[in-house]
Amino acid sequence: MSDWKIGEVSVTKVLERQTELALDAILVDVPEGASARHPWLVPTHLVDDRTGRMAIQGFVVDTGKVRILVDTCIGEHQVPIPMGASAFLDRMAEAGYRPEDIDYVVCTHLHFDHVGWNTRLVEGRWMVTFPNARYLFGRVEWDHWSVETGPYLNVDETVRPVIEAGQADLVEVTHQVCEQVRFVPTPGHTPGHVSVVIESQGDRAVITGDMAHHPLQFAEPGVGSNADSDRAGATATRRTRLAEWAADGSLVIGTHFVAPTAGHLSAAGDGWRLD
Ligand SMILES: [Zn+2]
Repeated sequence: MSDWKIGEVSVTKVLERQTELALDAILVDVPEGASARHPWLVPTHLVDDRTGRMAIQGFVVDTGKVRILVDTCIGEHQVPIPMGASAFLDRMAEAGYRPEDIDYVVCTHLHFDHVGWNTRLVEGRWMVTFPNARYLFGRVEWDHWSVETGPYLNVDETVRPVIEAGQADLVEVTHQVCEQVRFVPTPGHTPGHVSVVIESQGDRAVITGDMAHHPLQFAEPGVGSNADSDRAGATATRRTRLAEWAADGSLVIGTHFVAPTAGHLSAAGDGWRLD
């Protein structure tokens, strides 16, 4: 039932929502003529030059011993872009994972669409959703966002209750979760943003988080996201990491990329393509 096998580790995508939207809603300085310049993006990721497709989803990384949920989508919270009810937990169950099966919850960063199902509303209070999990939050992320406010944040509903319940560990940007899974720093979109690397039996994959929101940012790494904390830093991160992941043959799994969601990078023009 898994979507990908990386050595002995399986990765299962759990889709929360998928949408067609104006690229301007997520990206800044959207270039003209992208669909002609990068036909590999059409029609999967680009409907036309101004309109793209995007998903909100999480991933269950299962090593056989340890089950890690990477990003918990929007959940039941009130958010800037209301998108209706979330069937995320039902879809996780269909894939064979109940909330009590999860050993670790990882949030690549603390924006609302990556922390939503950390908690659920029970009798008017936000309670932890995954009763047996340690929740791994980046120390840099928490230090930053625990004192900031902004349109992409709801940490008082999604992060603070987990810390107060004693289920959170504040970890570094190079944290090793288990033998096969570790973080790699991908700062820029947020100060403590991480991507998640999986290595097993010589195979390698990475779950991007929001170091790119849309594969157009692989093709043209200078295209920013309107939620970036540091746009130049995010571009520099893309150039460094995408070159690295192209060179080492990583399977790159895009956190907001619609199906097929993952592929391998190759250099193309001033950027990369994903196939
Ligand atoms: Zn996001």
